[in-house]
Parts: sequence; C-alpha cells; structure tokens
Amino acid sequence: MPDVALRRSAEVIASAGALLFTAGAGMGVDSGLPDFRGPEGFWRAYPAFAKLGIRFEEAANPAWFRRDPALAWGFYGHRLELYRRTVPHGGFGILARWAERAPSGAFVFTSNVDGHFQLAGFPEDSVMECHGSIHFLQCVEECHQGIFPAGRSE
Ligand SMILES: [Zn+2]
Repeated sequence: MPDVALRRSAEVIASAGALLFTAGAGMGVDSGLPDFRGPEGFWRAYPAFAKLGIRFEEAANPAWFRRDPALAWGFYGHRLELYRRTVPHGGFGILARWAERAPSGAFVFTSNVDGHFQLAGFPEDSVMECHGSIHFLQCVEECHQGIFPAGRSE
C-alpha cells in the first residue's frame, strides 16, 4: 500500500467515532494457526481425514459426532487444545487499543471460533462469533440445554 493510502487509512481510523472489525481465518494465520484453505493444508494437519478424503468443510459438521464420534472428538479436541495453546499475535492488541480510543467503542464480527479477540481484551459482548466458539459445547440431542463451557484442560 502506498504511503499516502496508509496515512489516509490511519487518519480515518484515528478520527472514527466507532469501529467495526471483521475477521476470518486470515486473522489467525499470523498467530500460527492453520487456515484450512484448500484440502492439502487441512489434510497435512489431519491425516485421518486425508485417508477418508474428507475436506475441512465436510469435517466441520456436527453429524460426525453421530457417524464417527472418535473422529469428531479427535478433530474438535485437537483444535480446542491448539486454539487454547496459541497466543494471539500482536495485531489483536493493536486493534484492542484502537477500540479503546474510539469514542463510541468498537465491535468485532468474526467467523473465527478461537476466542482470540476476547483473549486479547475485547469484552465478550463486543464480539459476534458467527460460526460459534470452540470454547462452548452443545448436546447433539436437542435437549434444549443450550451451550455450556468446554471446561479447562488438565
Ligand atoms: Zn443433552
């Protein structure tokens, strides 16, 4: 980006009354998380799915908890551990500082399920996770208990 465009962007952000951050898989990549774009990256991270020829879009489906619970728990359990272990990169902190300076505050809309905006200091009620959060579980039976925290790892 040319300097002029960068400077103009900085001015717009600094003078904004409120900020809306939108984020997807790319936001996590700089923290070291895989983005699962394309089957090769996903299959390298999850060889069990490579053997079955299942792509990420097909794997990230609650139907697996009925069809093959061990596969489903292995997949989600591994991701939960990975996201818990990963430290959000410095960009999250920069956004959090911008958010504090915006007179009317800031809001995050993200497709990420890693909870890293909250970890970086964004209040829970300022983050909309449109694909849910890996830090919460839900019963596969529709027993209407809602969601509950995944708990802590030992
Ligand atoms: Zn239940």
